[in-house]
Amino acid sequence: MTDRATPDRRAELAAGLARVRARIADACAAAGRDDADVTMVAVTKTYPAGDVLALADLGVVDMGENRDQEAAPKAAEVAAAGSTPRWHFVGQLQRNKCRSVARYADVVQSVDSVRLAEALDGAAGQLRDRPLEVLVQVSIDGDPARGGALPGSTDPDRGLLRVAEKVAAAGALRLAGLMAVAPLGGDPERAFARLAEVARGFRAAHPTAVALSAGMSGDLEVAIRYGATHVRVGSALLGMRSTLR
Ligand SMILES: *Cc1c(COP(=O)(O)O)cnc(C)c1O
Repeated sequence: MTDRATPDRRAELAAGLARVRARIADACAAAGRDDADVTMVAVTKTYPAGDVLALADLGVVDMGENRDQEAAPKAAEVAAAGSTPRWHFVGQLQRNKCRSVARYADVVQSVDSVRLAEALDGAAGQLRDRPLEVLVQVSIDGDPARGGALPGSTDPDRGLLRVAEKVAAAGALRLAGLMAVAPLGGDPERAFARLAEVARGFRAAHPTAVALSAGMSGDLEVAIRYGATHVRVGSALLGMRSTLR
């Protein structure tokens, strides 16, 4: 049995949600955008299934996780309790985890190589009856060690357009757009301006892949100003995590 959130915890989550929703509404108003065009993904990593259920009761549909070891049992627990959120996998994904992730994820936001796209397509084709949505993760500081496909690169495995073409051609995947994480300690303004430029070029080649996942607790306003359609919010909603991830 899943431990349900206590009434105090529910009130805390409701307050966090109201604050984040107000921030998103204000940022959309300031940018002249409709807040119906921005989806909040609640990043529930390190928090228990009971919090996911409480957020779902409060109307949150989209949940994010960054580690399969944690996400797989949590998604199973949430499903057993009768709730079916849309799960977004947002963390670095190893090819040997694709089979596990393809079982519970509705969206994988972190595909950043041709080889990973192939592995995910193979797993999704065997295990799913409908396509898995994919966002290609883009590196906006060009540092290949930090993950993300490389814009403007012709690298056969990590070049952004190579990865996007592979996903677009994959039978069990659906290319939905791009995702990025602003460099740690960098200027989000610069990072998201650069991302918007990359997204423009990307959409010229893939006009239906319009999702842009950018912005977290600390920088969601900047991301919305630069066109984010998805913001991934953890700590502002659920509280500070005790571990750094
Ligand atoms: C943890 C995480 C988030 C949420 O970060 P917060 O700063 O807690 O909002 C967003 N995106 C990714 C990829 C993450 O790993």
